[in-house]
Amino acid sequence: MLGASPVRPNPGGACSGYLVEAGARRYLVDCGTGVLSRLLCHADLADLDAVVISHAHPDHCLDLVSVRQSLAYGPGPKRSAALPVYVGAAAHPTIVRLGAAFADGSAPFWEPWLAFRVFDGAAALDLDGVALHVAPTRHYVPCWAMRFEHAGRVLAYTADSGPCEALATLAAGAHLLIGEATLMARDGHAGAWGHMSAAEAARLAAEAGAERLILTHYDAALAPELHAAAARHAGDRPVDLAREGEVHVV
Ligand SMILES: [Zn+2]
Ligand SMILES: [Zn+2]
Repeated sequence: MLGASPVRPNPGGACSGYLVEAGARRYLVDCGTGVLSRLLCHADLADLDAVVISHAHPDHCLDLVSVRQSLAYGPGPKRSAALPVYVGAAAHPTIVRLGAAFADGSAPFWEPWLAFRVFDGAAALDLDGVALHVAPTRHYVPCWAMRFEHAGRVLAYTADSGPCEALATLAAGAHLLIGEATLMARDGHAGAWGHMSAAEAARLAAEAGAERLILTHYDAALAPELHAAAARHAGDRPVDLAREGEVHVV
C-alpha cells in the first residue's frame, strides 16, 4: 500500500498508488501525488516491469512527472529500456498534454523514459504472465477498475467508482478487493455517484464474493475507524483500512 489518500493527500500520506508483486514481476498501479517517494522505500524504478494508470485524475497520475524526472536525472540503477505505462485511450491525451507542459523546447518529455501502451478494455492485457482484466467504472472521467490474476490468485481494485454492476463482475471471487471508500456515508452525497461509501464498498465485496476487502481512497480526517466499522456493519467480509507501507499477501 503506497498511497491510500483521496484527492488531497492525507497528512504524511500519498494519493493512490499500489505496488503489486506477482512472482518476479512488479507493477506500480496508479501513480498519484506522493507515490514515488513511497515506492522508493520498497523498490527502485529499475525493478518495475510496468505502471498501470486507472484514469487521468491528478491523484492517480500526477507523480508520473516525478517518475520521469527520476528516470532522467535521479541516482540509482538505470533501466535498460523505457518503463511501460499502460493507460486507457481516454486518459492518454491528457497525460501527453501534461508532459508537453514540461517539455524543453523541441525535446519530448516522456520519451525515451516512459513508453505508453494504450488500452481500450476490449481484451485482457498480458503483463508477462500476469493477466490484467479491466472494466469501466462509474466516475466523472473514463476510469478502469482492474483484476490481476496470477498463479490462481486474484487481486481486484475498484479505482475510482460509484456503485456499478461491472465492478461486481470484475471482482468476482477475488481473494483481495481494494475498494475505494471516498464517502463517509451516502447521506449528503446523493449526487456524488462517482465514488462509493465504505458501506457500498462492503456490499460490493459481498456481492462479488471477494474474500476480504481493504478500504482505500479515504480521508483520514473523517475518522477512518468509523469508516471501517460502517463497512463491517454493511457487509459480511473481513474489512481493513489501507495503511501506507503495509504489505498484504493475496
Ligand atoms: Zn478520479
Ligand atoms: Zn481519486
